[in-house]
Amino acid sequence: MAFIDIPGNTRVKNILRKSLARDRLPNSLLFSGPDGVGKKETAAVIAKALNCLEKSDDACEICPNCKDINKENFPDVMIISPPKDILRIDQMRLLKEAAYLRPMVGKKRVFIITDADKMNHEAGNSLLKVLEEPPLFSFIILLTDNPYDILPTIKSRCQNISFSAISGEDIKKSLIEKGMGRDKAKILSLLARGNLNKALSLDEEEVQAQRKKAWLLFMSFLDKKNMAGLLKKYSNLPRKVVEEELGPILEIISSFCRDLIIIKEGGDLRYLINQDYKTKMIDMEERIGLEQSFSYLNFIEDSFKGFEYNTNVRLIVSSLIVNFFMNSSG
Ligand SMILES: [Zn+2]
Repeated sequence: MAFIDIPGNTRVKNILRKSLARDRLPNSLLFSGPDGVGKKETAAVIAKALNCLEKSDDACEICPNCKDINKENFPDVMIISPPKDILRIDQMRLLKEAAYLRPMVGKKRVFIITDADKMNHEAGNSLLKVLEEPPLFSFIILLTDNPYDILPTIKSRCQNISFSAISGEDIKKSLIEKGMGRDKAKILSLLARGNLNKALSLDEEEVQAQRKKAWLLFMSFLDKKNMAGLLKKYSNLPRKVVEEELGPILEIISSFCRDLIIIKEGGDLRYLINQDYKTKMIDMEERIGLEQSFSYLNFIEDSFKGFEYNTNVRLIVSSLIVNFFMNSSG
């Protein structure tokens, strides 16, 4: 994988490429951002670029160094992950010792620490000195999905780089480049919600099941069915579960709403995201007005904002459901 193979986060990639090209990459880096946005892949590209025999600001992917790093068989590049829930002090000691030794076969030593938030104080403290004054030939890249759990003493010694969720459009593009059909890529990019790894790991059956669930929920909103049941179901689950379960379903419902808008406005039906639901949507098109379709999109958007701003989960769920019910004519 080279920079071009990592979708999204263009600004971050540009900054990193430029600093590599100028030989000005900071030796201690902290990559933070949600899961599945390419932090580890980017760190691996940096490890290759620093050791590549052909390029200085990217991985060529064909020289022996790039190839060996891809096989995780390059002694100067180490990936350190917590064996269980915690990064151990002996792992940090090993890193520290190696960081002061000149590279064995490559040009630079690179240490990639995954789940850097899983570092206790003791392990963290042992790293402070090397993070503050690393030898010029050693680079330490810390990765985290939870930047708030990173020890402040660590954070202040690293150049912080934050990655954002990958846009649906970028995920779709990347899936198509990987050979996936357009319709499938569109739907998967909705379900993945910014996480490319997730898009790649979803299996067909699971995807169809989620879409069916979304359609049924959409219909019960329109029919004003089971409001109490829905409220009860979703408002008693932990936040993370609600976000993970309801998030993708809401994305799909909003794709149904967008399709309905195309149908209602007499647009080109080739642009429908849910081609296989076309007949169903045309059948129910009269039951829902154009304005209503737009309102539904807004309600869903509000729920996502609520998740983002850590609003109380019961509040998010109840206002979503109530809004849908109040605005349905069923
Ligand atoms: Zn190379």
